[in-house]
Amino acid sequence: MGREHIKVAKFGGSSLADAAHFQKVREIVEADPERRYIVPSAPGKRSPQDEKVTDLLYLCYEEAKHGRPYKKLLKKIKERYKEICRDLSMDFFLESDFGKIEAAFLEHAGAEYAASRGEYLNGKLLAAYLGYEFVDAAEVVRFGKDGRFEDERTNFFLGQKLSRLERAVIPGFYGADDAGNIHTFSRGGSDVTGAIVARAVLADLYENWTDVSGFLLADPGIISHPRKIDVMTFEELRELAYRGATVLHEEAVYPVRREGISIHIRNTNAPEETGTVICSRIAPEEEVPITGIAGKKNFAAISIAKNRMNSQPGFCKKLLEAFEENDIVFEHMPSGIDTICVILPQEELAVKEAAIMESLSRLLSPDKIEIDRDMALVTVVGKGMRSVCGIAARFFTSLGDADVNIKMIDMGSNEINCTIGVKNDDFERSIQALYHALVEVPWEEKQK
Ligand code: ASP
Repeated sequence: MGREHIKVAKFGGSSLADAAHFQKVREIVEADPERRYIVPSAPGKRSPQDEKVTDLLYLCYEEAKHGRPYKKLLKKIKERYKEICRDLSMDFFLESDFGKIEAAFLEHAGAEYAASRGEYLNGKLLAAYLGYEFVDAAEVVRFGKDGRFEDERTNFFLGQKLSRLERAVIPGFYGADDAGNIHTFSRGGSDVTGAIVARAVLADLYENWTDVSGFLLADPGIISHPRKIDVMTFEELRELAYRGATVLHEEAVYPVRREGISIHIRNTNAPEETGTVICSRIAPEEEVPITGIAGKKNFAAISIAKNRMNSQPGFCKKLLEAFEENDIVFEHMPSGIDTICVILPQEELAVKEAAIMESLSRLLSPDKIEIDRDMALVTVVGKGMRSVCGIAARFFTSLGDADVNIKMIDMGSNEINCTIGVKNDDFERSIQALYHALVEVPWEEKQK
């Protein structure tokens, strides 16, 4: 007999915002019997002006905690679930849960408890609607008393529990410590729950259902109708996400990556679309030269000059110490013979400028320090860059032709990314030039 296949499907808040979406979710789940473990978020926005249930819960709890009127808000939250039940022709069976939640709010159960109720209630509702078993994440997703997620214990408890259940709904975003106190991941954390469930059941695939048809190759606010990324590696995802391309919670990658489980981003509103697959390895025939382009504005460069810097052992160590002393993580560190430059977020520098200058002067006795502000970083990511000739030529020619002055160049040592620093004002123009030259102009089959 062949091995059984398991898919874990996580549905985001916009995929469960109302009854019509619940119906779409059921169709998706029922279309494939391998979708055995389902992880829901709390109901999200039904329209751009709408509110997320999680936000309402945080707000309601704050009001209750400070003795201010909160009942209207609680009613609004209850209405969201009632409406879903009514429109699905289900009896509203969460009345007693709301009673318990209100009592806990008045006893100051904590903001994390409050926020988690969005997923808890939605999980119960979805389990009843699908006819799946409901597993309270508080029983199986373990946190320490300090609120830190405990991955190995969770994997054990979750694995044990789910091995006994053919099909189950496990609400996302929260878990509990051994004393039963609820803890949550950071916002968007249902993605993380989906990934840890996929790891615990050794799923063949982690499907992440959302309201977009996958990752786009560039920001649609800058490039109109950019192409979709069909497939990318975990490494490439990390590079792009770091530079601002977000669809998935950062922490969702680790549990699945270690087991070699791929993530498939899909659109609940367009299940026929192919989405984006994120996996460990891409077959050479599927590799494209450029996977994605992303970037962010508002960085600053601190340039330090000192004669014969290159012959002083330990100079870099002291430089890094200056940043460590001030608890700053930097982005890039290009260097010359007698100069070195550290690039960091401008926001961070604004708060710590005096302190970092003091540390640099004391530790390095430099000849000169200069600060250059308002720099944007643009990163081009692609595993295929390693094997295609002429990428750098197109890259820099396109920027020159667009009159962009490049202030910094850094090619990652793994050759899957190339980052440039440009003026904030040149940010959009750089991305447009790069997208045109590297994505729209076809590549000949010129492999090295
Ligand atoms: N409901 C939570 C939030 O809004 C978690 C999630 O949706 O993943 O952040």
